[in-house]
Amino acid sequence: MKKIHKIAVLTSGGDAPGMNAAIRAIVRSGINNGLEVYGVYNGYLGLVQNDIRPLTRGSVTNIINRGGTILGTARLPEFADMEVTKKGADNLKKLGIDALVVIGGDGTYRGAKRLHDLGIHCVGIPGTIDNDIASSEITIGFDTAVNTAVECIDKLRDTSNSHQRCSIIEVMGRHCGDIAYAAGVAGGCDLIVTSETGYTVERVMEVVNRAKEQQRRHILIVFTEHITDVDALAKKIKDETGFDSRATILGHIQRGGIPTPFDRVLATRFGVVAVQELLAGNSGIVLGLQHNEIVPIEIEESFKMTKNIFRKYAVEVNTNASK
Ligand code: ADP
Repeated sequence: MKKIHKIAVLTSGGDAPGMNAAIRAIVRSGINNGLEVYGVYNGYLGLVQNDIRPLTRGSVTNIINRGGTILGTARLPEFADMEVTKKGADNLKKLGIDALVVIGGDGTYRGAKRLHDLGIHCVGIPGTIDNDIASSEITIGFDTAVNTAVECIDKLRDTSNSHQRCSIIEVMGRHCGDIAYAAGVAGGCDLIVTSETGYTVERVMEVVNRAKEQQRRHILIVFTEHITDVDALAKKIKDETGFDSRATILGHIQRGGIPTPFDRVLATRFGVVAVQELLAGNSGIVLGLQHNEIVPIEIEESFKMTKNIFRKYAVEVNTNASK
């Protein structure tokens, strides 16, 4: 088994609160285990551009409570081109770096698989607010994003109630409804609409009309992004039901902010286990949280997995109207 001496870490894809806590854990546990640790700046872009610098204990001081990623992140679609991947692998080899921890989503994992095939030991850590990685029940950043969304929903509840209004809240998630499910349940919303639940205007009108009949003072409806034009829907609700209605798109505000203690602890666990896996000589794997354990999964296997944790109870409680 090849002994690992130097490792590197990069963050890639969308940033997520808690990525810094993972970087810190990798650097500190790497150094504690006698490794030299490097940071690759701006994801695979920095890897290809050779923006790779040593990290010390001091490099990661004061970051556990900071959102974003101190290493920066970038998107480089060209990394799917084998010549470009090879350039990145060569840059690591020139510095004598044997192994790489990547923090990101499925796209980032695909890049890691290619590097693994070129002889770089790779371990992936799930970092994305969307929670759209099936191999991990929860990803780094999701808890913080849900906290942010719920804080906003709570505020919208106050003003909606005062004005007898329907608030439509659009949250992030790309094609995964988990932020909507979790924030919708925690925010006591009347209806949760995601790509998995499907969307019809009739269903929304049914919920609004039922609330009107019940003389409710507010209605809260949460949508995952990319489902419909929520501003147009708010106008339609007002025009057709007379119930005053406003849409609020939370947008990138959900990507930033101080990571919750849950995200910091989760990120630290992932970071420590990633270093242990590399020290054990393992590669071509990603780490996932399953039944509260951090477990390794072959990268290719991880793409075949599915999960349905938040949806199954959300649909039971989220609606004011009958099912
Ligand atoms: P995420 O990692 O959150 O899914 P992206 O899909 O944007 O985010 O992927 C992040 C980066 O991973 C991309 O910008 C690209 O550099 C790299 N990547 C994505 N897909 C592939 C692929 N099929 N092969 C190699 N690299 C990829």
